This record gives sequence, C-alpha cells and structure tokens, in this order.
Amino acid sequence: MSPAPRFKRILLKLSGEVLMGEGGLAIDPTITARVAEEIAGVRGEGYELCVVVGGGNIFRGLSAAAKGIERATADYMGMLATVMNALAVQNALEQIGVETRVQSAIPMAAVCEPFIRRRAERHLEKGRVVIFAAGVGSPFFTTDSGAALRAAEMKCDALFKGTSVDGVYDADPKKVPDAKRYDTVSYDTVLSANLKVMDASAVALCRDNHIPIVVFNIREHGNFAHVLGGEGTATIVTD
Ligand code: UDP
Repeated sequence: MSPAPRFKRILLKLSGEVLMGEGGLAIDPTITARVAEEIAGVRGEGYELCVVVGGGNIFRGLSAAAKGIERATADYMGMLATVMNALAVQNALEQIGVETRVQSAIPMAAVCEPFIRRRAERHLEKGRVVIFAAGVGSPFFTTDSGAALRAAEMKCDALFKGTSVDGVYDADPKKVPDAKRYDTVSYDTVLSANLKVMDASAVALCRDNHIPIVVFNIREHGNFAHVLGGEGTATIVTD
C-alpha cells in the first residue's frame, strides 16, 4: 500500500460480525476487548475517532423479512441490535480508560445520547471517541450508509472499514485462490464491478463527498494503527 495521506479525523465502520466469537457468541467479550485495544491505540496517537457499528451479528432486517417479519419492523429491530453492539464497544473502551459517548439516530434517552452533530463535534474536540448507533435511523438502509452519512456530516478525512480480510479483491479470495487484491481502486470500478466493499449507496455518498474508503483487517493486532501510518496491507477506494 502506498503511504496513506495524513488523516486527522476518521470514522471507523465495524460490521457486527467483527465482534463475534468462534463459538457463535454474538458479542464475544474477548474479541470486543481486542477491537477496543485497536481503537485505543489509534486514539492514543491523537486521531479524532468516530465509530459506527453494525448489527448483523445479532439481527439483519433483510433476512428476518424473508422469514415473514414486515421489512420496516425487521429493520427497526436491526437498528436496535446496533445499539447493543455500540454499548458493548463503549463498555470495552471505557474499561481500558478511553472516554466515549454513544449517540443513537433513534433517541433512547435512558440508554445513550441522541445524535446531535454539534454535540458530537464537541466530544471529538475533547478527545472522546464517539460511537454512532442505529445507522441513519430509518428502515431500508444499512449501517454502511450510516457510516458514510456520519463521515460526511462529521467532516471525516476517511472512512476506515474494519473487516476480517485485508482489502478488496476482484473475487472472493476464500473461493478463488488467485483472486487479485487491489492496493487502490476507484469508486466507479467498485460500483460497476459490484465489488464487495460497502453497499452501493454508501460508496456513492463517499464518492460524492470525496471521502476515501480504506478497507483493512481489524482482527490483526496493531493493524489499524499501521494502516493509518501508511504501512500494513489495505485497499484504498478513491477517485
Ligand atoms: N438498519 C436499518 N437502517 C439503518 C441501519 C441499519 O434499517 O440505517 C437495520 C437493517 O435491518 C440491517 C440491520 O439494521 O440489516 C443491521 O445493520 P447492518 O446489516 O448494516 O449491520 P452489519 O452488516 O454492518 O453488521
């Protein structure tokens, strides 16, 4: 990977699956603690950090709708799942001394703050990690779209997508042994070739707002900080 441009404020998108353990536990405390350490490491280097968590480890609207739950209801259930994950990440971060705030797109006064952009801005200035829950707050969207939207609103320099693979490939590397990994790839190629990065509306929102998307493996110890420092293996999606 070529040296990364200097980013100051970044948004980390974590799929719910990143928090899952081997035994099928939806939120594995050991793995969540490891993810929190990666975030703490980067925070410690002075970056301003927003985090968006998915909910796919607990509930996915589309799959539930296929089994008979009304789609909008299923999506609201999915959004509630993202709040649970956000609280798990918050808990893991605060256990290692990182100050955080959770803001939900669906107001839930007893549980966390509502999403208020200016307040989130203030938290970042004070060095807190801000965890955004409940995606965009509407059904028929995903947390990828939530991540792209918050990255644009919060004027993030880049959206980092933490996954369990080391970048974007032209085919599924688990099925196609000689699949090629991209160092960089354009938004338009991602969209036209339907490459598995984030859903199309999220990629288009990043393209329209010139927010680079960095896809990297967050399960590898120290990798988040390495990739931010321009080392390590990742794919950058850009113009
Ligand atoms: N969801 C939604 N609107 C949003 C974000 C999420 O309806 O703005 C619902 C949707 O049902 C989705 C679920 O929440 O399947 C969990 O989010 P997602 O699938 O994006 O999680 P991830 O794949 O990142 O774990």
